Amino acid sequence: MKEITYRSTRGGETGISASAAILQGLAGDGGLFVPEHMPALEKSMDELKRLDYRTLAFEIMGLFFTDFTDEELKSCIERAYDEKFDCEEIAPLAEADGRFFLELFHGKTIAFKDMALSILPHLMTTAAKKNGVKDEIVILTATSGDTGKAALAGFSKVPGTRIIVFYPKDGVSAVQKQQMVTQEGENTFVVGINGNFDEAQTGVKKMFSDEALKEKLSAGGFRFSSANSINIGRLVPQIVYYFWAYLTMLRNGVIGDGEKINVCVPTGNFGNILAAYYAKTLGLPVRKLICASNRNKVLYDFFGTGTYNKNREFYLTSSPSMDILVSSNLERLIYVIADGSAEETKALMTALGKSGSYEVTPEMRSKLSDFYGGFADEEETAAEIREVYEKASYVIDPHTAVASGVYRKYVSETKDETKTVIASTASPYKFTESVMKALGEEITGQDVFALSDRLSALSNVPVPSAVTELKDAPVRHKTICEIDEMPKTVLGFLGI
Ligand SMILES: *Cc1c(COP(=O)(O)O)cnc(C)c1O
Repeated sequence: MKEITYRSTRGGETGISASAAILQGLAGDGGLFVPEHMPALEKSMDELKRLDYRTLAFEIMGLFFTDFTDEELKSCIERAYDEKFDCEEIAPLAEADGRFFLELFHGKTIAFKDMALSILPHLMTTAAKKNGVKDEIVILTATSGDTGKAALAGFSKVPGTRIIVFYPKDGVSAVQKQQMVTQEGENTFVVGINGNFDEAQTGVKKMFSDEALKEKLSAGGFRFSSANSINIGRLVPQIVYYFWAYLTMLRNGVIGDGEKINVCVPTGNFGNILAAYYAKTLGLPVRKLICASNRNKVLYDFFGTGTYNKNREFYLTSSPSMDILVSSNLERLIYVIADGSAEETKALMTALGKSGSYEVTPEMRSKLSDFYGGFADEEETAAEIREVYEKASYVIDPHTAVASGVYRKYVSETKDETKTVIASTASPYKFTESVMKALGEEITGQDVFALSDRLSALSNVPVPSAVTELKDAPVRHKTICEIDEMPKTVLGFLGI
């Protein structure tokens, strides 16, 4: 098999092995690592159809992570996709109201981030070994709620790693906070900061570029790393489940050999939908990639006009994981439509940094025809939760509802009857209040456990243990600090 190496989208680094790219996260020039050549999938759908999730993951991830041995990759996959997931399929496909919901929320934190964050720690520690790194890896993350918990759950108890998560003390939901402060694992650390998310994020970035701090860490046998969604070790595992969805439809006779499907993805940072695009590039029969935004519709505008412009009002919505104005992973698509020109990509990203906007050339725009951009506002999102429930007795979360609502508009506009997979990115139990409100239920004065019981009665789906276990879990993390005390707090945790 051909060795796949990686380069920065901005040209500063080339010939990087997969394991080095995973260890490093972001390239030194600020670019994102992309494969220098797209690998080729040699197995047929007929061969892949028979595989279980883990074996399929091995086939797909093996195409990209060519410097991992078979044993190394298998071991990472087996440790990631095990009984942490509450069903054997890992990512089951549910048909409701004529569409196919790919449920990516059967992991520890009942959201799709688990699909990648349950394997990233194992890829990273394996990569460290392969590259002769003896230091313990210290993951630093600032979170506005969801990513922090998924990263904690992923790295908890993984030998050779520690994870430190900073969250704004008064800026996350009660459930999100409870999820984090009850996290188990001697290698996990959770800190509330007196400040907002941006300040936490800036504080973390400062530590990453603080040379004196890095030296102290190194002397103590540690090194920083990031579990950020731009890491190629998060992107590649996400390609697997698009194949899985297609093969499930083939197995069930929903589609015939070679039949094309559409994929519709609720999008924020553009990681999940980019994985679908990579799947299509590998040969998955996909017609349209439907990119669904909430009220923060910067991507919808981009696909419609060719101009990306983050200079606009920012809205807080019921789909908070999509409340994003800079979709970092879009840079990897820009690189593709710029025909692999690092110069052009760099120029556009520099413009984004300087003025907050950039415009692609008409030629680049013509290469975006695989994509369809749509958006759903708050009212449409709630209406979609209601409509799918009324038609199919199936309850979806607000992020998934954005995608489902956009798909409804897409069909009425295009009359395209292609069977469509909707990425279902969170369990409705993660956003119980918004969901119950959308279903017309009374929510005032009801705590999350009472609401969950009610939701269970409505949907006929048991309350997941991720919710029930919060009830009596002891609080294990009580540290609070000021923004300027973040480095001191980190050193304290590491005992150096
Ligand atoms: C992170 C997230 C998204 C957005 O995914 P991207 O890869 O950032 O586009 C959508 N829904 C949920 C529930 C998420 O947690």
